[in-house]
Amino acid sequence: MAISGGQKPAQRPARAQWLDSGNSITQQFMAIGGRADIVSLAGGLPAAELYPVEAIARASERALARWGSVALEYGSVEGLPALRAAIAERISASAGRRFGPENVLLTTGAMQGLDLLGKALIDPGDLIVNQFPTYLGALDAWRPRQPRYERLDWSGEGPGFEAGLRQAKFVYAVPNYSNPTGVLVSQARRAALLDKVLEAGTWLVEDDPYLPLQLDGAAGPSILALHGERHPTGAYDGPVIYLGTLSKSLVPGLRVGWVVAEAGMIATLALAKQSTDISSSMFTQAVALELIESGFEAEHIPRIVAAYRERRDALCAAAAQHLSEWFSWEVPPGGMFVWMRAKSAEIDTNALYACALEEKVAFVPSSVFDPDGRLTDAMRVNFTRSSPEVITEGVRRLERAVQRYLAS
Ligand code: PMP
Repeated sequence: MAISGGQKPAQRPARAQWLDSGNSITQQFMAIGGRADIVSLAGGLPAAELYPVEAIARASERALARWGSVALEYGSVEGLPALRAAIAERISASAGRRFGPENVLLTTGAMQGLDLLGKALIDPGDLIVNQFPTYLGALDAWRPRQPRYERLDWSGEGPGFEAGLRQAKFVYAVPNYSNPTGVLVSQARRAALLDKVLEAGTWLVEDDPYLPLQLDGAAGPSILALHGERHPTGAYDGPVIYLGTLSKSLVPGLRVGWVVAEAGMIATLALAKQSTDISSSMFTQAVALELIESGFEAEHIPRIVAAYRERRDALCAAAAQHLSEWFSWEVPPGGMFVWMRAKSAEIDTNALYACALEEKVAFVPSSVFDPDGRLTDAMRVNFTRSSPEVITEGVRRLERAVQRYLAS
């Protein structure tokens, strides 16, 4: 019997269209981060040499002794109950009101929270009002849902702002040390945005991964806390959907994050999560619980903050020496990034990026943080991943990259 002898194979179906309108930028930057010849100031990664490997090994042993096979099972979609309760405690302590486990969904990193929001809330054409420039991971997560975007105007005075909010499925903001700009949004602006969101009757997604990385001074209350202060009792029924993670205070590899919101929203997101991964890893949740309950996380944060402050200062000092002719920036009071804006329209950071790779240094061009890709006058430079010496070398290479670019 001949099997399709000589016949041309039928064309297999193409992949979904959104993949072609999207990009693989995050993957590219991860790959560049793994190249020994390149100084990568591109990634958003913590300092790997500060990862508490020993402490996590001990916490893993304790977790297995405590939970046995429970830690190795599928778990409930909402997460390990004891960790949900611990996160509810943590949020209650900072938010001036009580949150219970029913207000917490544990996720596979905060990234999954963003993905679930897309899955559960966005229909094609829906409007999202987003802090601009916007975290690339959020744009990536929501791309398959085909939303429209409007820029969040923190002053609340921009044309059409209130109308935009009334139509929005949700507002997306990173008020603490934003990715990519490192900006800390003032309390007055947070309160004003909360008022507008309440008036408009929409949701506010407050993404807060950088909270532990307060390098100068305190971040101040979250928008969730501002709302909690006004409504201190009863079941939480506010508009804030708050995202947190252990990726910055401990390690990204645990992939433990959380969403805190009113119980109905948690149930909606849990429904979306079920078909994504059944449950997040019970094992890493049990390890995370040990690291939190033992007080290790709280002890560890000051160590990384001290190292990151030194690295940020090294980056800004080197940039003042080598880049200030062409770029300006504000020293970020926390987080992981310095946002450098070109002083002259002559510099397009997409084009500069190619020269930077030739000089064996990488940054992230601003265009990837713009849903329309039109923002080409800035770059995001990371200071947490590398030592002060390597950062300084990276900045010297950036100087050569700018010279090469301007000469071309
Ligand atoms: N939101 C923002 C603004 C981030 O910068 C990141 C991490 N780069 C995340 C969410 C995702 O964090 P996680 O590792 O918890 O998935």
